[in-house]
Amino acid sequence: MEELMYKSTRNSELRITASKAVLQGLSEDGGLFLPTYIPKLDVSLKELAAMDYRGVAYEVMKLFLTDYTEEELKHCIASAYDEKFDTEGIVELVYADGAYYLELFHGKTIAFKDMALSILPHLMITAAKKNDIEDDIVILTATSGDTGKAALAGFDSVPGTKIIVFYPKGGVSFIQERQMVTQAGANTCVIGIKGNFDDAQTGVKKLFADKALKEELATRGYRFSSANSINIGRLVPQIVYYVYSYVKLLAEGKISEGEKLNFTVPTGNFGNILAAYIAKEMGLPVNKLICASNENKVLYDFFETGVYDRNRDFKLTNSPSMDILISSNLERLIYLIAGEDDAKNKDLMRKLVNEGKYEITPDMKSKLADFIGGCATEQETLSQIRKLHEDTGYVIDTHTAVASYVYDAYKKNTGDDTKTVIASTASPYKFTPNVMTAIDKVEANEDPFALVDRLSKLSGVKVPVAVEEIRTAPIKHDKVVEVSDMKQSVLDFLK
Ligand SMILES: *Cc1c(COP(=O)(O)O)cnc(C)c1O
Repeated sequence: MEELMYKSTRNSELRITASKAVLQGLSEDGGLFLPTYIPKLDVSLKELAAMDYRGVAYEVMKLFLTDYTEEELKHCIASAYDEKFDTEGIVELVYADGAYYLELFHGKTIAFKDMALSILPHLMITAAKKNDIEDDIVILTATSGDTGKAALAGFDSVPGTKIIVFYPKGGVSFIQERQMVTQAGANTCVIGIKGNFDDAQTGVKKLFADKALKEELATRGYRFSSANSINIGRLVPQIVYYVYSYVKLLAEGKISEGEKLNFTVPTGNFGNILAAYIAKEMGLPVNKLICASNENKVLYDFFETGVYDRNRDFKLTNSPSMDILISSNLERLIYLIAGEDDAKNKDLMRKLVNEGKYEITPDMKSKLADFIGGCATEQETLSQIRKLHEDTGYVIDTHTAVASYVYDAYKKNTGDDTKTVIASTASPYKFTPNVMTAIDKVEANEDPFALVDRLSKLSGVKVPVAVEEIRTAPIKHDKVVEVSDMKQSVLDFLK
């Protein structure tokens, strides 16, 4: 078989290496990178079941990152998945009320973004070395909360990199802001902007497209790169934990070899659930992929009707990391179900920009049979947290609760009793006020850390280091700028 390379969802003829795709992030034609084919697992599930997380990570990632040597890839994996995680298994599987919760929040910033962002910096500096790039890599990110901190923690003190994060001042949760502005590391920079998340995102996109800025920075020895979820360096590491959760259940005798599992995933940008789909295409025995949305239910409507329509009001919900109307990673699925037809994909993506909507053909829709869409309202999300806590004592965060609710409804409606793994994407401590509202009473203006302590009593789960740290950590970043001054603040930091 030909060596696996990367092409673009808007140019099927393109061929670039994995390391170049990691460095570049997005293709120059505006498309997303995809491997030329989806490789099959080449070790048996039984063999994988005998491995630890790092072992499984190598067996999965080697199939995609084909121009990394074994030594390079194993070094990246060992540097990422170590004591930074507060559990030796890197992830945990917890059985509660008829489903397995795959806890993906045991990394430094207690959200699932750590699973990929703890390895991305290593994949990137290795890629730079392989491609003889001597410039320092500057990561530019706009965040609505979780990505910013996970990227900061990942790139903190990584030689040859700098990272600049823009967040909407007043638009992120107390814990999220504290986590970011207390970030140590001389190569990190956190800036609040006077605007909302869209302003931050648009501002960052402008900086990426600014040719004069690019040239100016090149003379200073810098080049930009992106850590957001369209980078294959984030997608590939996410495939690992789906395979790992399967073989872990196999090793524990909870399932038999070849038995199918459902995965339910709380979804925003469609990165996490796309990784589950790729795992299935690699040969992992999977029945249904259940895509759970909050009240911004564009994806639910899409799976129901075949129409993707972003023309609607944007809602701020209690699961903010899923508040999104344009799920960037869906483009990869669209391209695949269009039979890898780049022209067809480009046409739909142009419609999305111009009209805010597009409709797929019946033939494309028939290829979505693996997917089930579901959604939960604000109230359903909170009552699911309460119900699970009352019935089992287990406490989940708001994002995970959206998935948990959607799974229960799916099971009730279909009678499907396939064993199911629910991706648990954040620690309840990251969203303490909402979680406490669900399981207890919250006084107006109650101190956030007092709530944290009460949550610990109620859940019996120790307060994570990530939260303990920010109680007393000194504020390192207090810059707040107008959107129009974002460029100047980048130049100031990169003097
Ligand atoms: C980012 C995020 C999600 C959504 O993941 P996608 O890959 O964007 O679909 C869900 N839950 C939490 C806690 C997140 O941080």
